[in-house]
Amino acid sequence: MEKQLMVILGSGESGVGSAILAQKQGFKVFVSDFGAIKPKYKAELEKYQIAYEELQHTESIILSAVEVIKSPGIPDKAPIVKALHEKGIPVISEIEFGGRYSRGKHICITGSNGKTTTTMLIHHILVKAGVSAGLCGNVGHSYARMVAEDPHDVYVLELSSFQLDGMFDFRADIAILMNITPDHLDRYEYSFQKYIDSKFRIVRNMTKDDAFIFCFDDPVLKQEIEKRDIAARLLPFSFLENVEKGACINEEKIVINTDNDLFDMNIDDLSLNGRHNVYNSMAAGIATKVSEIKNDVIRESLTDFKGVEHRLEYVAAVRNVEFVNDSKATNVNSTWYALECMRKPVIWIAGGVDKGNDYSELTDLVRQKVRGMVCLGTDNAKLVSAFSGVVGRVEEATSMDEAVKKAYEMAEKGNVVLLSPCCASFDLFKNYEDRGEQFKNFVRNL
Ligand code: ADP
Repeated sequence: MEKQLMVILGSGESGVGSAILAQKQGFKVFVSDFGAIKPKYKAELEKYQIAYEELQHTESIILSAVEVIKSPGIPDKAPIVKALHEKGIPVISEIEFGGRYSRGKHICITGSNGKTTTTMLIHHILVKAGVSAGLCGNVGHSYARMVAEDPHDVYVLELSSFQLDGMFDFRADIAILMNITPDHLDRYEYSFQKYIDSKFRIVRNMTKDDAFIFCFDDPVLKQEIEKRDIAARLLPFSFLENVEKGACINEEKIVINTDNDLFDMNIDDLSLNGRHNVYNSMAAGIATKVSEIKNDVIRESLTDFKGVEHRLEYVAAVRNVEFVNDSKATNVNSTWYALECMRKPVIWIAGGVDKGNDYSELTDLVRQKVRGMVCLGTDNAKLVSAFSGVVGRVEEATSMDEAVKKAYEMAEKGNVVLLSPCCASFDLFKNYEDRGEQFKNFVRNL
């Protein structure tokens, strides 16, 4: 019998991972990328003898597929995706595809902010408990690749809304929704509701034996959950209110109640600072308690977790001025939490590609915490006008070197220079990692 053709659009980590799994499952595989394929992925495709093309999409081949796995970076409005929809060829995500062949349990994490930190926290706890747990999805290796080459008992899976969009029959055993604030609206026809609906796909197919963990303090989540009929057990976490089942704060302690077996821990003992990290730790604590991990192991893991690079990462102190790298803060909400947990006067480096930001949410915090500001981007007009009357001194820079020097010059002893851009990075940098690396290098050279 002739093999069925599976086409993979996009050849990054998720595309190549899907290609490897599809080949292993006996499909004829064709990878097509409209851009150039990175040499390391080309070498892999060649090693596996998987057919591919770059810098083009050959419709005659692609439109003969039984199914197409689309990489999350490719928008639905791309002409090739439209053509597939018109022809009725199913377009799925790597998550949907991988889920068909995986026998492990799935702990899935999504939200606008805090995904990576929470995913890594959960993985850290499970590994410490001796569980065979794989970290994958948006962070690290592709999920499909892991299913193909390195199967685990538990997959801790970070999911973006784009991966959820192509998910239909996949079922999470434990799903976590951290928060929903406007982001990526350019991919959702500028409709916040469409973005919300995409995030809520994470609860599709869940049953009463599964657990849905979410932030009870998030007004959008609260409202949406009331509207929806969710089959899974609801386990909220809250900083502000008491909850019967789930996690909340009692006398400076995190208290988690899942099955009447209580867990508690002092907030001060958490290795990660800031209210947002209390949320992340609560979510990770509930997920691992539901997975029957012992309290001692959870407590110890939340105490010794090292943090994730580019997320409120302490860099150095230079003549009593501290430098903190929060380059991953690419939207307003993440910067809000960064500023909220600053305890010293801040010199703030912000800017980049504005994704339709509303800076008014930051005004009060900026007024309280920020002494000086450096706007770092090719077009700083919106930032400058939002904060000129709020911050004593606002400067502009067009390179990281210049930004670090200007911030350092503005700083007084006992200040902290915080890079928390609330914008995407690709006007001046390759990505947020490059932006964070450059920041750290220029700080170390001061
Ligand atoms: P994501 O993977 O969702 O982008 P990260 O864990 O990488 O989330 O964190 C991204 C940014 O958001 C960082 O700047 C971090 O300081 C901030 N952040 C982390 N957790 C939260 C949270 N629960 N709520 C709001 N902001 C957060």
